Parts: sequence; C-alpha cells; structure tokens
Amino acid sequence: MHQITVDDLVVDVVRKDIRNLRLAVYPPDGRVRVAVPLRVDDEAVRLFTISKLAWIRRQQAKFAAQERPSPPEFITGESHSYQGDRYLLSVVHHDGPPAVTVRNHTTLELRVRTGSNAAQRERVLLAWYRRQLKAAVPPLIAKWEAALGVHVAEWGVKRMKTRWGTCNIKARRIWLNLELAKWPVRCLEYIIVHEILHLLESKHNDAFVAHMDRFLPQWRLIRDELKRGPLVHEIRKY
Ligand SMILES: [Zn+2]
Repeated sequence: MHQITVDDLVVDVVRKDIRNLRLAVYPPDGRVRVAVPLRVDDEAVRLFTISKLAWIRRQQAKFAAQERPSPPEFITGESHSYQGDRYLLSVVHHDGPPAVTVRNHTTLELRVRTGSNAAQRERVLLAWYRRQLKAAVPPLIAKWEAALGVHVAEWGVKRMKTRWGTCNIKARRIWLNLELAKWPVRCLEYIIVHEILHLLESKHNDAFVAHMDRFLPQWRLIRDELKRGPLVHEIRKY
C-alpha cells in the first residue's frame, strides 16, 4: 500500500488483481482507500478520486457528525447485538462457571466470576457469540453445498478487521467473521452463499453476479444492510 495526496486528502492506494477501481471511505475517521487494478497508474487514481471528491466529502461529513460510541465495558445496562436484535446486558457476578443466557428476547444475562474485569467479561461474551455462530453455520453450509453442488472442505470462525468472510479456493476453506453473530441470520447466509460461490467462480464477474441473482435474488439488499458496518468482504485466492 502507498499513499497519494489529492487536494488535501490523503488516499491509501492498494494495487490488486481486480478489474475495477474501488473507492471506500471508512468510519470513524473518514479514511479513504482505493483498490486499484495492477495496471492502473497513480495519475488515473488521482483523476478517479477527484471525480468522487464530492461524494467522499459527504461521507466524511456524515462520519464526523456521528457520535463516537465509547468502547463497551460489558457492564449492566449496555446494549449489545445478537442475530440482528439489540439486547440489554445484565451482568451477574457469581462463583460458578461463566455463562450467557438470553432472557425474554430482551436481555443477555452475562454470568461471570466475582471480580472479573472488562476484558474477562468480553471474553465470555465473545466465546458465546462464537458458539452461537458455530451452531448456526453447519445447516447453512449443508443447504448451500447441496444447492450449488460444491463441497466445502473446511470452515471456521475468526475475528477479522476488514472482511466478512474469505474463501481459500485451493483448500476449499471458508472463514467467517465472528461479528456475523451480531447480524441477522440472513446476513450470515448471504456471506456463506457468497463465499461458497467462489468455489464455482473465483472472481466477482458477471457470471458470479448471475449466480447470486439466481440463488439469492435479494442479495443486494443484504449486502447494503451489511455495508452499514465498516467491513467489506473479499476473496483471497491462495
Ligand atoms: Zn467475494
């Protein structure tokens, strides 16, 4: 990655084996990043960025106007997401093993050892998210393996900063972002379909889009829903 300056704007430029220029503005600071096909030079990136300046400024103004949420402390009264719904966190200190329980579709009860700190409480919650996600994934993978006629050799869940999912085509291995536990199941399913489709079509080309349109006609709506978060999904080939 390197940077170019356009007006007073610092732009991260990443060259990749892709077809089209892709420009994104990221919260919270409005960082601008352009993914560029290998053969496109910096001058073309500069002109492309200039043509998008008004849009970039609008996105940055939007992020600047948003209130910065303070980092969660995993204490009673905080709001946390699970499968697309917001839950009130209720922390119970006790001397038994840690546990998370959904109560009345409104509350996530987090049972932790007396004296546990924020990092320990976060670990308990993340472990629970991971278990929930890992339980939700197998039937979806089985469903789409059958529908698409492909086989996923291996899958897993991990924390990722920039991707919702990845597909290693050679190993037929899919990674899913742990964050998906917080989103509606349709979002998880969309990412699974997308990543499995890469076993049929490695690139985001017309054939790939045609597959998506055929198998998951509402995929654009779900993609836009996920775009409200800061992550994108990308394919890693090897
Ligand atoms: Zn992809």
